[in-house]
Amino acid sequence: MGRIYNFSAGPAVLPEEVLKEAAEEMLDYNGYGMSVMEMSHRSKAFEGIINEAEKDLRELMNIPDNYKVLFLQGGASQQFAAVPMNLMKNKVADYIITGQWAKKAYQEALIYGKANAIASSADKTFSYIPDCSDLPISEEADYVYICENNTIYGTKYKTLPNTKGKPLVADLSSCILSEPIDVTKYGLIFAGVQKNVGPAGVVIVIIREDLISEDTLPATPTMLKYKIHADNKSLYNTPPAYGIYICGKVFKWIKNMGGLEAMKARNEKKAKILYDYLDQSKLFKGTVVKEDRSLMNVPFVTGDANLDAKFVKEAKAAGLENLKGHRTVGGMRASIYNAMPIEGVEALVDFMKKFEEENL
Ligand code: PMP
Repeated sequence: MGRIYNFSAGPAVLPEEVLKEAAEEMLDYNGYGMSVMEMSHRSKAFEGIINEAEKDLRELMNIPDNYKVLFLQGGASQQFAAVPMNLMKNKVADYIITGQWAKKAYQEALIYGKANAIASSADKTFSYIPDCSDLPISEEADYVYICENNTIYGTKYKTLPNTKGKPLVADLSSCILSEPIDVTKYGLIFAGVQKNVGPAGVVIVIIREDLISEDTLPATPTMLKYKIHADNKSLYNTPPAYGIYICGKVFKWIKNMGGLEAMKARNEKKAKILYDYLDQSKLFKGTVVKEDRSLMNVPFVTGDANLDAKFVKEAKAAGLENLKGHRTVGGMRASIYNAMPIEGVEALVDFMKKFEEENL
């Protein structure tokens, strides 16, 4: 039985080395005589796992000491509520709407306070990132919110917005660890790990200490309070222990690959293979303005829904899976996260060339 090339947007491909290692340790982790799935989250063994995961993540992302790293549950979607509940002191926040996930976060924030949509790319089906150099940031805004890489539409901020001194909150679910970032530019970063880091069930939150406080909105559940999780080092309750263990292995895999600079170079190389082909193809067309293209998610279309469906079906038969575009967009989307090997992208482009010859 062979592995296919999995272009899913998430849960997504993980490094084979990590999966093999996890398989080897399944019955007996490190001489403890049990799987990580079976051990107490208060055990010495797990303490080692979570501490090392945090240490490696801090090193990879160069996270300053005045930021807490939390490993939580509830998906990225739960952060859409946790962010306003914890951060909306003035009950005002500014949102930049660059796709469905940003919009969902904005709609969630409206439940808790005055969320302002200060910019949007909805006018052109979210195919670009708006100019964010001089936005009407609200005087009383508690934070400015972005979704940095738009998984569905395949756009990515190349420059962060000018928040005019307000803390920047960013959803990095589909680009975390794909390239180096300057953590000090953010007040809070969160990411569901099921794309670039690990199995679904873990959310990483990186939050500047001064944004953590007891002073949350009145009905904030204990489990959504950053302070509770920070004070308890992500062990207030049972954390998603096995998921954290796999994330830790992926952090080590990235370190072994040369860290985030190396990841960036590899991701740029992979994306270039696909975008270069798309730019000269007579059949396929990328859907995003060039300057704002994501390195992680690459949507493309033929312009003919039947031909798109045929492509997805034949690609699957050729071992290239999950290429169907998001149900709200149609067409195709290749997600080429960190763990997608270059050979996978080459195989996809070879297949596209053949399909183009046969169907033009
Ligand atoms: N934000 C982004 C950028 C996403 O791509 C996704 C999921 N695809 C989400 C948030 C929602 O994540 P979850 O399913 O973990 O709630």
